[in-house]
Amino acid sequence: MIYLDNSATTRPAPEVTDRMNRYAAENFANAGSVHRGGQRARVALEDAHDRLAQALGCEPKHIVLTSGGTESNNFALKGYAFACRKKHGLWPAILTARTEHHAVLQPVEFLAWQGAQVVYLDVDGHGRVSPDVLEAALQTIGDCAVRPVVSLMHANNETGVLNPIADLAAVARAHNGVFHTDAVQTFGKIPFTAPGLGVDMISMSAHKIHGPKGIGALYIGSGVELEPLIHGGAQQRNRRGGTEPVELAVGFDEAVRLALEHAGQSRAHIQQLDAMLRAGLSAIQGAEIVTPAQGALPGIVNVTFSDAAQLDGEGLIVGMDLQGVAVSNGAACTSGSQQPSHVLAAMGLSAERARAAVRFSLSRYSVPEDVQAGIEALQTVLKQVRGD
Ligand code: PLP
Repeated sequence: MIYLDNSATTRPAPEVTDRMNRYAAENFANAGSVHRGGQRARVALEDAHDRLAQALGCEPKHIVLTSGGTESNNFALKGYAFACRKKHGLWPAILTARTEHHAVLQPVEFLAWQGAQVVYLDVDGHGRVSPDVLEAALQTIGDCAVRPVVSLMHANNETGVLNPIADLAAVARAHNGVFHTDAVQTFGKIPFTAPGLGVDMISMSAHKIHGPKGIGALYIGSGVELEPLIHGGAQQRNRRGGTEPVELAVGFDEAVRLALEHAGQSRAHIQQLDAMLRAGLSAIQGAEIVTPAQGALPGIVNVTFSDAAQLDGEGLIVGMDLQGVAVSNGAACTSGSQQPSHVLAAMGLSAERARAAVRFSLSRYSVPEDVQAGIEALQTVLKQVRGD
């Protein structure tokens, strides 16, 4: 299979599986145990915290390991809202955008149902939120008894479009807001640090960077208190109960180590393939590239078609799969639902164009032959569907 669906998940690096297997074969002790096995497990966990802290330019105490990006987003939003409610008896106002991943949108809807005020910020035609829009919304909300929370993603998982997070976070700070960013698609792929972005919380996930599924992390800056979502143990400084999954942490550690080691090289490689992919897709009759050439994460190219009404994205993806090429029509969790992408709809694309969209996503393991095969498979399937 030619795999061009790396925004959904990535192939675990061989170094990751090796290290996890070796660790699991040698030690299965609980990191909370006092004996030597337990101490060894604790060291492995601390190593993972240290590595993540190194990557983000923060202290290890600011990192909480979670089960992945979904939990990190839930923890950031619900943990903050529950802490406000517990301390002040009030829900915070929440500002976000309709282009966010469902792992942000659904916790936000849950909190709205609990009584929190939610403001959906307008996005431009590329799905970006401008600092001026955030400024105006925060001015309209005015002074709040509890600090409002802003949640805006770093790069969109369907289009790759980047939000100007440092500028947005500066606006939030000026209004005493707390800023969370879902960096699941960018962490380990483009360089940034927590102090550099100036944000309070950052969500990350291991399986998007050639690590194992089922582990992620949340960066929590000083001055932000979160109520745990999982009560039941003093693990992770009382922030998440439950025996830590040490093997997964070892895998995450290795994935981050590799991402840091190969950072510059991987980026240049992906940028080259991205340009090749864009050129090849642009040459296809009726293709309209949704992902802008500037201001997007290299490696994600979303394309729709001028004759979208005659096409069906799901059919294109199944057709490409039959040609041996794995791509996607947006978020992995919504595929199969036949719903047009909520992201493309929020950007103002028609339901037909949103439904016909195909997302190609690359990784450092992608090669030019994969890209070429992807372009050719799309051409073949379009010919079949259009009856050319
Ligand atoms: N946020 C974004 C932007 C994502 O792309 C994803 C995964 O698709 C998630 C959150 C959820 O991450 P996980 O699969 O680790 O729960």
